[in-house]
Amino acid sequence: MAAQGASAAQSRLLRCEDCGRPVRETEHGRTAYHVDYYSLYTGEVEEQSLASEDGERRMTFQRLLSAVEIVTCADCYRDPAVQRRREERYRPETAAAEEGEGARE
Ligand SMILES: [Zn+2]
Repeated sequence: MAAQGASAAQSRLLRCEDCGRPVRETEHGRTAYHVDYYSLYTGEVEEQSLASEDGERRMTFQRLLSAVEIVTCADCYRDPAVQRRREERYRPETAAAEEGEGARE
């Protein structure tokens, strides 16, 4: 019974982004399991736009510049403010769009 990617994950020490404590891999017991952290993959993006084939419209998209893994321990994850920050980092374009809507009248 091998856990997927366990050997690669165990060789690196992960720390919580918020409180800095080291986190452990999920422990599986006979009847339960213990989750110690949540990880989120995101990255720095840059908005780019391209002309569509008909040359009339432009399409915009987010280009990934660098990938980032955000690790949050189970304790910090319970904090709604931490979850909101994670969401903002995961969807920076959503956060930017909401700001834009607020500014418009
Ligand atoms: Zn933490």
